[in-house]
Amino acid sequence: MSESIATTTVPATPVETVIIGAGPVGLFQIFELGLLGIGSHIIDSLPQVGGQCTELYPDKPIYDIPALPICGAQELIDRLLEQAKPFHATFHLGQEVTEVQPLPDGKIHVATSAGTRLSAGAVVIAAGVGSFQPRRLALPGVEEFEGKSVHYRVKSASDFHGRDLVICGGGDSALDWTVALCEKARSLTLVHRRAEFRAAPATVARMRELVAAGKMQFVEGHTVALQIDNHTLTGVVLETNDGHRKLEVPAEQVLAFYGLHPKLGPVAEWGLELEKKALKVSTENFQTSVPGIFAIGDINTYPGKKKLILSGFHEAALAAFGIQHHLFPQKRQFLQYTTTSPIMQKRLGVAPVEAESP
Ligand SMILES: Cc1cc2nc3c(=O)[nH]c(=O)nc-3n(C[C@H](O)[C@H](O)[C@H](O)COP(=O)(O)OP(=O)(O)OC[C@H]3O[C@@H](n4cnc5c(N)ncnc54)[C@H](O)[C@@H]3O)c2cc1C
Repeated sequence: MSESIATTTVPATPVETVIIGAGPVGLFQIFELGLLGIGSHIIDSLPQVGGQCTELYPDKPIYDIPALPICGAQELIDRLLEQAKPFHATFHLGQEVTEVQPLPDGKIHVATSAGTRLSAGAVVIAAGVGSFQPRRLALPGVEEFEGKSVHYRVKSASDFHGRDLVICGGGDSALDWTVALCEKARSLTLVHRRAEFRAAPATVARMRELVAAGKMQFVEGHTVALQIDNHTLTGVVLETNDGHRKLEVPAEQVLAFYGLHPKLGPVAEWGLELEKKALKVSTENFQTSVPGIFAIGDINTYPGKKKLILSGFHEAALAAFGIQHHLFPQKRQFLQYTTTSPIMQKRLGVAPVEAESP
């Protein structure tokens, strides 16, 4: 145990479990713990819940959530929040977890960048790709426009309607948004350093059709400068690959999709066994190499791991049983169905369904 923790002056609040990361998998962990009667505090460094779904692709439909043939990414998060509501988790948003440390009394100390200090019976790390950050547009003066007219994600597609738009990048996000916004923007220029794309072939083909129809332009090259008039972005200077021509294109808004720059951040410093920047877990209960600390979702690894939301949901269910056993080792575990268990229905706040009389 480190001295700093032993001598800290801020008393830690005792809690049953702490979930680190409020992405889809962390949110579902609230529900699975709640069904077993275990309360949770959930912490995320982002100011909103939803992880990658909300941060990276809120408007995109997801097609592989069981029983929901099509579900918007933000809609999925809204549904998960609704489902977790009966369990009254405490949310600590906009704060990064900086310390996780087992204590001699079996509790786990958790501290955040905002000074929150919790003493948890168990911790679930659902930190996804860690504190991920978009690769930024490397142009002089760009900081002044980031979040206003230079963006690394689309929060609301309608912000770009009727605007002169430049989209940078050659992956799925760049191509999907090019196709989606082309006929909504006043003008659209796609800039990519090569003629080949790392995107779905059908989307690339659609983009080429739009270029052929004169609805947008594609420039094979890269951005070299922003054009600014009285603190307002008016255009972007591009350098083409063929003969290095300089092109000036109108731009009130720029969307740069250069991919994510995953930063595992503090998770790597908590003394847990890692493999290729992911936390090694047992598939029986999703416990890490440290008893009482569990890891679910994109942050963990095990033979056959697939980084899918569906896999994370399964992991959350088994981790909940693992946590129940860790917190209450004497308790006999048995499986109950939400359809028939009066105690689970009570926890869910739903009225038990009476059997119909014959
Ligand atoms: C464009 C795109 C499309 C996708 N489509 C699909 C799909 O169709 N189907 C599918 O199953 N999957 C899809 N995925 C993958 C899916 O989004 C991820 O598998 C899922 O988000 C993982 O959920 P998670 O809760 O484990 O992590 P995340 O969603 O990454 O959430 C982790 C959270 O932890 C927080 N965090 C990290 N470190 C800390 C810290 N130290 N302190 C506090 N908070 C921290 C982060 O801020 C983040 O909010 C897609 C991904 C992308 C990028």
